[in-house]
Amino acid sequence: MIVREIEAKTLLSAATQPDPWFGIKYTMNLYRGCQHHCIYCDSRSECYGIADFDGEVLVKVNALDLLRRELPRKRVKGYISAGSMNDPYMPLERERRLTAQALAVIAECGFPVHILTKSDLALRDVETFLAIEAAAGGPSPGAVISFTVTTVDDNLARKIEPAAAPPSARLAALAALAARGLHTGIVLMPVLPFLTDSPENIRQIVAAGRESGARHVIPAFGVTLRDRQRAYFYRQLDQLFPGLRPRYERTFGGRYHAPAAATARLETVFAELASRYGLARNVAAYQPAVAQLPLL
Ligand code: SF4
Repeated sequence: MIVREIEAKTLLSAATQPDPWFGIKYTMNLYRGCQHHCIYCDSRSECYGIADFDGEVLVKVNALDLLRRELPRKRVKGYISAGSMNDPYMPLERERRLTAQALAVIAECGFPVHILTKSDLALRDVETFLAIEAAAGGPSPGAVISFTVTTVDDNLARKIEPAAAPPSARLAALAALAARGLHTGIVLMPVLPFLTDSPENIRQIVAAGRESGARHVIPAFGVTLRDRQRAYFYRQLDQLFPGLRPRYERTFGGRYHAPAAATARLETVFAELASRYGLARNVAAYQPAVAQLPLL
């Protein structure tokens, strides 16, 4: 995969609508493109304008300068996420450390973060997460770290999320962060029709989250399928799960949303377990009231 350095014009983009699932107010994309190559990734869709999503990663070499300039000017304090169309802990981050350094700037500025990842590399930054937590100083969490887990089966994950850390490693990292008192959880999406949409899979993920110390599990029972994203996904199905593509085509045609089979049943299974284990299903349950900062 080609790695190319670029200078970005801006870094932080503010959400225009409240985010009821992840509670995110600002997104900073330190990279463009992703090395994890999940077969279902929506970032391949034409609307995002990333022509070679699987062939090239762009590194925003001036990202930290931009963050230092933009963050103190934000009047509304809310959760910052590190990557909406990439994973902030993709393999490249091990040497580049853009996410690590950006988190340090965020800690200095006293903003909260909600990090979403499929990598156990997040554990490397535990001390910075604790600094963010301390700086936030409120009753609500300053650092929230969510790991996406779509299956607990490492072998299946190797097929559908080929370059991400295995789910067992993600859950171990979640447990280690939770043991340090940080707010951790699971993003249980997408749920792929005919592949990961069994009640047993949902039960296993929720149970694994509970055992690891997750405080929330955020589910979505289905997957989106759109232009280039669908084309890539179907090519991968042909290679990895022969015979499944015609079933998708018969069931969903050209529709954007491909819901899991028996979604209502999955919802019932999930809701019962989440209630039993005291797991929130979104971060709105404990996210801070958005604070308005004075103009400097
Ligand atoms: S980790 Fe996220 S952004 Fe990266 S390929 Fe997978 S789904 Fe896409």
